[in-house]
Amino acid sequence: MQANVVTPDGSVFEAQVEMVSVKTTEGELGILPMHLPLVTPLTIGAVRIKKDSKVQLIAVSGGFMEVRPDEVNILAESAELPSDIDISRARAAKERAERRLEQAKKDHVDFRRAELALKRAINRIDVAGGGGR
Ligand code: ATP
Repeated sequence: MQANVVTPDGSVFEAQVEMVSVKTTEGELGILPMHLPLVTPLTIGAVRIKKDSKVQLIAVSGGFMEVRPDEVNILAESAELPSDIDISRARAAKERAERRLEQAKKDHVDFRRAELALKRAINRIDVAGGGGR
C-alpha cells in the first residue's frame, strides 16, 4: 500500500510500504494493506512504517490518519524523520518545558502547553535515538 506523511510545510514521506503503525488517542494501531477505511486522530508519538522489511520511524506531533484499502495518509501538525531531528534543539525544548511545568500551576493553561511541548521534545529525542536508552 502507499503511505504518505504530509505536514503544513510539505511532504515528509511517501512510498510503497508493508505496514504503518501509529499512536491514536485510543492507543496503538497497526495498519496492513486492505484495512477497512477509517479516519482517526493521532497523538504526539512515533509513526512506525515497515518498508522493504525495515522500520522507518517518524516523529509526529498530532494530526489525523486516513486509511483506505490501498493507501494511508497521515496529515500531521509536524513530522520529522530521525535524520531531520535536531537533538540539541529537542533537549533544549525539553528542559524549557520542564522548567515551565515546575512554575505553572496545575490548572493553568500554561501547564497543558508545557506538558505538550515536553511530550513533543521527548518524542523527538526518542525517534532520533538520542535518549541514551
Ligand atoms: P521548539 O520549542 O524547539 O520550537 P516545538 O515542539 O515547539 O519545539 P513545533 O511547533 O512542534 O516545535 O514545530 C515547529 C517546526 O519546527 C516544525 O516544522 C517541526 O518539524 C520543527 N521542529 C521542531 N523541533 C524540531 C527539532 N528538534 N528538530 C527538527 N525540527 C524540529
